[in-house]
Amino acid sequence: MSATIIDGKAIAAEVRGRVAQDVADLTAVLGLPPGLAVIRVGEDPASKVYVTNKRKAAAQVGVRSWEYALPEETPREELLDLIGRLNRDREVHGILVQLPLPSHLDETEIINAVAPEKDVDGFHPLNVGRLWSGAPGLVPCTPAGIMELIRRTGVDPKGRRAVVIGRSNIVGKPVAALLLAAHATVTICHSRTADLPAVCREGDILVAAVGRPHLVQGDWIKPGAVVIDVGINRLPDGSLTGDVNFAAAREVAGWLTPVPGGVGPMTIAMLLANTVKAARLQAGAAL
Ligand code: NAD
Repeated sequence: MSATIIDGKAIAAEVRGRVAQDVADLTAVLGLPPGLAVIRVGEDPASKVYVTNKRKAAAQVGVRSWEYALPEETPREELLDLIGRLNRDREVHGILVQLPLPSHLDETEIINAVAPEKDVDGFHPLNVGRLWSGAPGLVPCTPAGIMELIRRTGVDPKGRRAVVIGRSNIVGKPVAALLLAAHATVTICHSRTADLPAVCREGDILVAAVGRPHLVQGDWIKPGAVVIDVGINRLPDGSLTGDVNFAAAREVAGWLTPVPGGVGPMTIAMLLANTVKAARLQAGAAL
């Protein structure tokens, strides 16, 4: 069998097109475009690139964005004060604090300071609670993107076995919650799971979110499964690769995401979708 490759780039472009239309409609109703404030603390080069890409994508769909680039040594009070002001600013519908933060800042405290209705990353405990209790709220971007990719395969998670490798708060746990909400029977694996290959082989849907190049081998995959590779790993030659051995997986899986060009492009598309959702929430249910 040769797996169908899931084209994350093309699907993300479609999502962005849909978001652009939503932005235009919402702008007409609100009288101002949805706005996204991005806070970056310090000089982490990867964070700079991520923020630039997010702002570029925002501009392309008509979302207004602002970047607050703060020095590495910014005191917590100053950062909390900025978040407080953005929470009250009616032109700002989404607030994103680019992680990781410098070590003197407590990420949990900072995330908790963002108003839940502006929390476009979906990391605030109120949104996490809503996700697990099945209430509507803002959902983390990468997991939301993964669900969209699964949806596009036409494979309904309902009644199927889903296996998620990784239990982080930003990918593993929320994607497990979303699969559960979609009526899959979900198993979450992690670094201490016994006989990981055998558990993975049970998955009609297998999501790998670990950060270890080529951890998942072909014989870990149930024939015909949907395999979503979230990992982004840089090899010594500078190239990017996922958590799944792509060549081997391709021979066994039914559907497979490539790295790059799979989950990655979906994350920013879903951030823009979340900004529109946040703007709608703040405008009231009438929209
Ligand atoms: P993390 O380090 O927070 O979590 C990794 C998880 O993998 C942990 O729960 C750990 O228990 C588990 N793990 C580690 N070694 C394992 C092993 N040998 N067997 C089984 N489980 C093991 O990472 P994260 O933030 O969840 O990210 C995971 C990967 O996804 C990384 O490569 C990251 O770069 C990538 N990522 C991609 C996107 C995207 O947009 N495509 C977004 C977020 C993260």
